[in-house]
Amino acid sequence: MEIIEQVEAILTYGETCDHCLGRFFGKRSHGLSNDERGRSLKIALAIAENKPYIPFSGTCWVCGNFFENVPEWASRVEEAVSGLEFSTLLVGCRVPPLIAENEEMVWSDLSLADPEPFKSEVNREVGKAVSARISKVVDFKKPDVVIILDATTGIVEIQVNSVFFYGRYQKFERGIPQTHWDCRACKGKGCEKCNYTGAQYLDSVEELIGRPVIEMFDAENAVLHGAGREDIDARMVGTGRPFILEVVAPKKRSIDLTVLEAEINRTAEGRVSVAIKRWAERAEVETLKSNKAHKKYRILVEVDGELSMDEFANALKSLKGVTIYQRTPERVAHRRADKIRERKVLDIGFAGQQDGRFIVEVLGEAGLYIKELISGDGGRTIPSLAEILKRKAHVTSLDVTQVDGAKEGE
Ligand SMILES: [Zn+2]
Ligand SMILES: [Zn+2]
Repeated sequence: MEIIEQVEAILTYGETCDHCLGRFFGKRSHGLSNDERGRSLKIALAIAENKPYIPFSGTCWVCGNFFENVPEWASRVEEAVSGLEFSTLLVGCRVPPLIAENEEMVWSDLSLADPEPFKSEVNREVGKAVSARISKVVDFKKPDVVIILDATTGIVEIQVNSVFFYGRYQKFERGIPQTHWDCRACKGKGCEKCNYTGAQYLDSVEELIGRPVIEMFDAENAVLHGAGREDIDARMVGTGRPFILEVVAPKKRSIDLTVLEAEINRTAEGRVSVAIKRWAERAEVETLKSNKAHKKYRILVEVDGELSMDEFANALKSLKGVTIYQRTPERVAHRRADKIRERKVLDIGFAGQQDGRFIVEVLGEAGLYIKELISGDGGRTIPSLAEILKRKAHVTSLDVTQVDGAKEGE
């Protein structure tokens, strides 16, 4: 069928606006908008049939004259994003099923080769109108804000995408978990045991860093993604643990990271401190969390009975470079699968004594359980320091002193 015949056939379904007519041939003749293309086709048909050309003035059977309302949609969007700071956006829409059915019927009845769907014209036209009004740029890949038009209800929904930054944190106080824990008794609802806070521990590294962040970005939430986890009773010192903080639904985005860093460090009052290195992206989070970096620890070990420093240091030597077989430790067995992992002790050394305890520095492969390396965990970890010494040994305090990170930028 010639194009002109297809146009004639389409117009027999009912009155069709220039947008919808042009869109049925939407992927032909670039450089024309759909309504220009539609109007030109109507003119061509009028000339071919030698009939007067009458501009469209009725109600379109496909879209119900949706495109007359583009300025109205743009002003609704403008209202919905007021008070939000952002620079890039993307417009999407939910198409009323009837409109989709109408156009799909014509596509298949006439075997049209190059139609454009209603949805993409709406996204483009409303996007253009919005960016002209509020001078923002459309970004298809990583928009700050996604605007969804519900063409059936007339409602505009706004999704504000998260912002991310990369840094390292230190934790100077024991007893602070890395992330928020719901109260075990009430699962976060609030009960007598947790003093109606819903929290098992009042503060976490996540919250100590997150609170000032939520405030400065005027955000809904802040989520900590750490390069590995540390025990609640371990300190995280030395060069600190790499993390990415996800700022959820921020109303502000242009925050000075230096000022933010100072504010976090001020409000955390020496319990936690951060060094913020740079902005980050969502795609980095998975890489960071699956970080297979080696970790360095400084631990205090208590051993039953009398033992000379030499005996102790010699026992440590026989663990150096050795592969350790660790069945999932008793203390985490309730939340992790029971299996045996193999991890290497890359380096281990005696570093002095303190209050009758031995100071040990360990460099372990990612995932090595340090407490069990010392205690043996009732035979679940082999070999262990306790096994070598043939007496009980356990870790009384643990500091993480180094975690290797991603590229830090700057
Ligand atoms: Zn239409
Ligand atoms: Zn509770």
